[in-house]
Amino acid sequence: MTQSNSPGVALVTGASAGIGSTYADRLARRGHDLILVARDAARLEDLAVKLRAETGVAVEVFRADLTDKADLVRLENRLASDEAIDLVVNNAGAVLAGSFLEQTPEQADGLIQLNVVAVARLANAAAKAFVRRGHGTLVNVGSVVGLLPEYRSTVYGATKAFVLYLTQGLNQEIGGAGVTLQAVLPGATRTEIWERSGRKLADLDPNRTMDAGELVDAALAGLDKGELVTIPSLLDPAEWDAFEAARVTLSPNLSHAHPAPRYGVKVPVAA
Ligand code: NAP
Repeated sequence: MTQSNSPGVALVTGASAGIGSTYADRLARRGHDLILVARDAARLEDLAVKLRAETGVAVEVFRADLTDKADLVRLENRLASDEAIDLVVNNAGAVLAGSFLEQTPEQADGLIQLNVVAVARLANAAAKAFVRRGHGTLVNVGSVVGLLPEYRSTVYGATKAFVLYLTQGLNQEIGGAGVTLQAVLPGATRTEIWERSGRKLADLDPNRTMDAGELVDAALAGLDKGELVTIPSLLDPAEWDAFEAARVTLSPNLSHAHPAPRYGVKVPVAA
């Protein structure tokens, strides 16, 4: 692509709608040239035309079905070889309708391909490229549902718990090597994801459903502040800190030579 005087090229997956198209809009207004990824090339092209006209940045459309191995590998290769890409927003995702018992194995498989396999493979390609160059930012879009098994969106929630863990783990491995990581955990947000999974936006409680513009503006503000985990709805960040502190308190107690006494397992007496 022809580059303008950009702070770096941002690649956004799931850029044809909702949160991803809003990221594209906001990043263009911050001066990033863009690579927009999704399946619907016509929609991406419409957005590209609009953003080029309104912001003057260079915008490329990269049509890919992230559940298709060949498309995914093409995108990985682009991430590995394009030195200009400095920001990746791993956002494309979907939800499954119904309960676990109502879902087919094929549906669960498809969701895991999109929400987990594609996210991990693109993160792997981006992380290697960023570490090699000594700079880059990887934003992974998770969900608060990944913290909430009570919500009973089990496979979706598990994929989003993966996104949080992936980001925290990568931060341990490569954070600080010039690479910035962020997990964004939206609550319910007004996008097409609801209709796509057979639910009506109108049925959601408007007091608990965020506008995608506010969500992305808060997520970018969190990125600017250096947050590893951004939960735009959370009023008191001390609650997240306490949650994390409780988890860290467990860590020295999770691997021992013998089971805890409450399991009644006979263990050899030390000589
Ligand atoms: P959305 O409006 O339905 O948009 C989803 C985007 O992902 C679209 O651009 C879609 O484009 C793309 N996509 C879907 N399947 C794809 C595939 N196989 N290959 C490539 N791209 C694909 O959803 P959204 O609400 O913006 O969701 C974005 C992210 O936010 C997701 O990861 C979602 O889990 C997360 N999130 C959303 C909410 C919410 O309430 N909206 C809450 C928490 C987290 P094409 O159809 O053109 O491919």
